Amino acid sequence: MERRRGKIAFFGPMTNPESISLPIYGKIARFRVDRELGTTHFGCDLSICHGACCTMPAEAGAPILESEIAELERVLPIVRKYLSEDSLATIANEGVWRRERDGSLTIPAIRGRDCIFVTYDSPSSGAERNSKHPGRGPVTEQTAYCAIEKAYRAGEIEGFPKPMSCHLFPIRIYPTGENTFEIVYEEISECKGGRKRGKSERIPLLDFLHSPLVRALGPERVGRLRKAVLSE
Ligand code: SF4
Repeated sequence: MERRRGKIAFFGPMTNPESISLPIYGKIARFRVDRELGTTHFGCDLSICHGACCTMPAEAGAPILESEIAELERVLPIVRKYLSEDSLATIANEGVWRRERDGSLTIPAIRGRDCIFVTYDSPSSGAERNSKHPGRGPVTEQTAYCAIEKAYRAGEIEGFPKPMSCHLFPIRIYPTGENTFEIVYEEISECKGGRKRGKSERIPLLDFLHSPLVRALGPERVGRLRKAVLSE
């Protein structure tokens, strides 16, 4: 997996923090922003990647926030019916989160690959449509989905569509110090289809990921982020 990052812009604390509605990142957080966010076109195409971001080989699973531990434990009893025997065995041994050596929190993966919350559609059913791109029609090969998102879309859980880092990907928010963060676009080889679709259909990355950005930052800070990276 290859990763690439672009140039950086800045935007600071909000002038009116009270206007933010339930952002995950706190009122005093400061952010450095990758200017490439404003020039990138992107739109996931599961018919090409088959949900590769849920199954990528990696040393650690998806990063999570401290506040998401309780959410993962809350939704587990509801989503476990979607999980494989391997997932349930890994959860029984390791739980639904772990702390890495650097202190960060992650979701365990099965043998360094599939997220424990992954679920697969049947390649023969064609019933599951591309969840990030409903207009693309049935997916014809086995595709990985987030079981939490599946339950959320089915109305089985409320208030937690999936972990923030997964919802935002390929945008990442990395901590860089106390209450300071860096917001970057990560280009990985698995997202080739998303880049191609984004360019051909002229889908701005910031539009495609507007909903998770608002969930993370609140609407006013997303407006300021857009202004910062679209102003040049
Ligand atoms: S983020 Fe990339 S790998 Fe994940 S669904 Fe979108 S295009 Fe596929």
